[in-house]
Amino acid sequence: MYIDGKWISNRPEFNVTNPATGEIIGQVPDCTDQDIEAVIAAADIAFREWRKTTAYQRSKLLYRAWELMIGQKRSLAELMTREQGKPLKASLNEVQYGADFLLWFAEEAKRMYGQIIPSARENQRFLVQKSPVGVVGAITPWNYPISMITRKLAPALAAGCTVILKPAESTPLCAKAMMEIFEEAGFPPGVINLITVRNPARVGEAFCTDPRVRKLTFTGSTPVGKMLNGLAAANMKRVSMELGGHAPAIVFPDADPVHAAKGLSMVKFLNTGQACISPNRIFVHEDHAEPFIKELSSRASRLVAGNGMSDGVGIGPLINEAATQKVDDQVQDALARGAKAETGGHRLTDNGLAGGYFYAPTVLSGVTADMKIYREETFGPVAPVITYRSEDDVIAMANDTDYGLAAYIYSNNLATSMRAFEALNFGIIGINDINPTSAAAPFGGMKNSGLGREGAQEGIEEYLETKLGGLAI
Ligand code: NAD
Repeated sequence: MYIDGKWISNRPEFNVTNPATGEIIGQVPDCTDQDIEAVIAAADIAFREWRKTTAYQRSKLLYRAWELMIGQKRSLAELMTREQGKPLKASLNEVQYGADFLLWFAEEAKRMYGQIIPSARENQRFLVQKSPVGVVGAITPWNYPISMITRKLAPALAAGCTVILKPAESTPLCAKAMMEIFEEAGFPPGVINLITVRNPARVGEAFCTDPRVRKLTFTGSTPVGKMLNGLAAANMKRVSMELGGHAPAIVFPDADPVHAAKGLSMVKFLNTGQACISPNRIFVHEDHAEPFIKELSSRASRLVAGNGMSDGVGIGPLINEAATQKVDDQVQDALARGAKAETGGHRLTDNGLAGGYFYAPTVLSGVTADMKIYREETFGPVAPVITYRSEDDVIAMANDTDYGLAAYIYSNNLATSMRAFEALNFGIIGINDINPTSAAAPFGGMKNSGLGREGAQEGIEEYLETKLGGLAI
């Protein structure tokens, strides 16, 4: 743990394992209640000076952290693959994406503009200034263990907030590596802190109830996000919530089904399907079903599963046993209710995979609304395909979910694409585009997928208060 500029390790520890092998790769301290008090006090005291720094000073430190991160790209990616399981190439991409937030907000720090607003009264002016919200509690997930940290910390620091980071129990080593970067970059003690814990509820409760913490930023599952949001609301805290998703992908009749299958296979199996924007319900026009399913299944069956450090591996393990069982439960339920496994549909234990949590890349056809996989968020390598007849039907089916994070459209018709873009109730829509994410673009969801946006100009607003001065002259 890193509290007030000091590393702390003499606490009971918990293990971190490699999900590809089951091997223990490290230990991290389990924080005490005194550590939680100490970390909040440190961030609160540091805020008093940090808020006075200029945007240029904060920007310089973020630039330095970006440089260090880029310099350590390979070692960070290797650590991520060992701790989280994704193939090394995907880890390298994530480190780059994570670094992008440092660079973007190093620049955005200087654009926290205010306003002078004319008054109806001759001898009055209104002055609007932005100021940092204060101490931020940041809770991050394991599926993107580095980029979810920078996506929160970079805008918070740029805004002039101090931060306490609590990473997921499965991936604290990536968080520790990022803390070392922030320390080396020269952030003052107490400005960025790391607390690790085996049972996260204690820290979550402290973030939501301690009056010194002014903002909670959370990425994780919808049930935990709702619970924390309730607690934070009772204490009138600012919140940002990036929660679950159940993204629809629509292949319209004017699209090329083979091209669509290629794109959707790439985004579906990315990170072994453990992404909140993974396409989980693929709606294909009935005229396209056959070529689409053939291409998608062929691509899925050719993906090589294994340890992400090995050459040629295209898909890594799931994060743990519970995640693997949940995926298999959804698949078995769908098969029992009449779906067909075009490929996959089972765990992988042969060829040295028995020690890890591997599941065969799976394509299910004949998926219907009564199946669990149609309603529940799927956090695994399973592509459920549903056929449809009319545009109105498919828009209604796509919107028929409690989630509202991402959606994808394949169409070669501008009018169809625009109609669908406007009719779909989702925060992020890829139009013939499988990667609609960037540090420069606002990321976030509607409905049960959360509150607020990360990245882009909106990203820094989440960490700012608006202050009005009425000035008599
Ligand atoms: P999770 O909610 O169990 O864990 C996420 C984080 O919350 C972890 O740091 C965990 O330690 C912490 N946490 C869990 N219980 C807590 C509590 N009672 N108090 C405080 N903190 C607590 O989620 P998960 O299953 O590990 O992560 C995957 C989920 O995250 C998926 O649902 C996925 O869709 C979502 N996710 C969303 C986004 C997004 O940007 N919208 C990005 C990645 C993941």
